[in-house]
Amino acid sequence: MRDGSPMASFSLHGIPVSRGIAIGRAHILTPAALDVKHYLVAEEHLEAEVRRLQDALAAVHRELQTLWNELPKDAPTELGAFIDVHALILSDPMISEAPLDIIRSRHYNAEWALLTQIDELSAQFDEIEDAYLRERKADIQQVAERVLKVLMGSEQLMPKQGELEGDEFLAQMIVVAHDISPADMLKFRDRSFIGFVTDVGGQNSHTAIVARSLDIPAAVGMSQASTLIQQDDWVIIDGDAGVVIVTPSAQVLEQYRERQMVALRARKKLGKLKKTPAITKDGTAIALMANIELPDDCEHAMESGANGVGLFRSEFLFMGRGAASMPSEDEQYEQYRRAVAAMKGRPVTIRTLDIGADKPLDQMEHTALNPALGLRAIRYCLAEPQIFLTQLRAILRASMHGKVRILIPMMAHAFEIDQSLAMIKRAKAQLDDRGEKYDPDVKVGAMIEIPAAALALPMFVKKMDFLSIGTNDLIQYTLAIDRVDYEVAHLYNPLHPAILQLISMTIAAGHKAGIEVAVCGEMAGDTKLTRLLLGMGLREFSMHPSQLLAVKQEILNSDLDSIAPQMRKIMRAMDPDAIADAVMALQVL
Ligand code: PEP
Ligand code: MG
Repeated sequence: MRDGSPMASFSLHGIPVSRGIAIGRAHILTPAALDVKHYLVAEEHLEAEVRRLQDALAAVHRELQTLWNELPKDAPTELGAFIDVHALILSDPMISEAPLDIIRSRHYNAEWALLTQIDELSAQFDEIEDAYLRERKADIQQVAERVLKVLMGSEQLMPKQGELEGDEFLAQMIVVAHDISPADMLKFRDRSFIGFVTDVGGQNSHTAIVARSLDIPAAVGMSQASTLIQQDDWVIIDGDAGVVIVTPSAQVLEQYRERQMVALRARKKLGKLKKTPAITKDGTAIALMANIELPDDCEHAMESGANGVGLFRSEFLFMGRGAASMPSEDEQYEQYRRAVAAMKGRPVTIRTLDIGADKPLDQMEHTALNPALGLRAIRYCLAEPQIFLTQLRAILRASMHGKVRILIPMMAHAFEIDQSLAMIKRAKAQLDDRGEKYDPDVKVGAMIEIPAAALALPMFVKKMDFLSIGTNDLIQYTLAIDRVDYEVAHLYNPLHPAILQLISMTIAAGHKAGIEVAVCGEMAGDTKLTRLLLGMGLREFSMHPSQLLAVKQEILNSDLDSIAPQMRKIMRAMDPDAIADAVMALQVL
């Protein structure tokens, strides 16, 4: 616990979710602040940003004035008083001036500066004993919302990626929050923070996965980090160990800087493998594919030398869009087409909408008691055939621009296979009617991520063109652990014998039936498990691009002939320690 001294160093232990060391200043984000864009404004644009906020404040003033003027004669007097209070709040220097200072001093964009100030004011209001005054907090928030609405409609001067490189602020910020949803995490992709720390979350929650895709250190499940760490505290994230050190001593700081340098050198070395084919020592070729969330990620995938996209989590195109909107067929088509074009002829596996659980749509009703077991992924799509058909048509149209594969998530039942295939047929027929072209041979695969699917493989191999094992969910559902819940994170064990059996069975059944099997869950990007998966017969790995070269290096150093004899022992073992030891031993073969 914090001892009150601002300089006392302390550390917090949680769950490592994205590797590497980050050293920077804490930036505490409140839930409200997560809703707006965050970026730092370059010195030369600061006054323009100040004006943007001033203009928004003036616009709200005018809005309130109009409201007042247009009040019906018989309107209750409280209504006029209410508008007066809001106008007063708006003119108060704490709203009309303090955020301008924040823009100038911290370089925050206008929305962020306003919210930072509102958060500070709200905290002060919480301390007030007088109930009437305490309730005025709501008025301040309503005024802020009006201003934000105007701001969000005004043109934002977002710096381009890397434009502010070397900027003191940017090079230093570590986001600390109670929780960040996957959709909010996505918003951070175009702006640079150097690390993330959250109080809650699990290793394979979608928030963690997006953090990994940002390729910056992150640790979750830090319990009370967002209350114990204070704004601007110096923080080290050790993303390998899941440790956060707050206000470190000079000596500790030096040690971590040294580690950062070593990691950087290792990374540079890996970069040389980009064009080397992934072939084991005994000559077996392995496909290394990329997991992406948005078409822009294809650039990273290509840079890392991926053989294609093994998993395009298309749901990220649907998230964070507000309550009313779904991407249209044309909009989706354009995004899929972009991804396909960016991969220059390499296959792109587009997973159909996997919405629900920890990735809700804004417009979804949150009625499920246990969303991970609820109307998720293919269940949702079959219940909403128009949404599904729209997506399928968009994917099919994109197949004219390269090699596209369709991947269906969360299948468990025979009727889900049949209905999905029927929907694809219907989408094709609809395109035929419109005279639109598509690749008639688009391959359709199933994600094997529910134990029932892994135990009923004949059902799948007969009708599907390929399989992709989603180990993140397979572990969640087999071991009955919510992947988002840090309190059960210690039970999330990819080496549980049940998991190993299910993966191995799926690979064997697929190969026996002559269809390709990939692993696209996070296990595929874990170098400690590369040889284990090779030993199980896996020949296609799909992972985030940032992990790809390290996995390739592992593959280049692996010899399947020496792994094979060890596999029998591993697959028979039931003792978790023995399994872990045997898997570790594979690495030094
Ligand atoms: C998985 O479950 O392993 C997977 C790849 O899909 P997601 O993580 O998006 O659920
Ligand atoms: Mg999944």
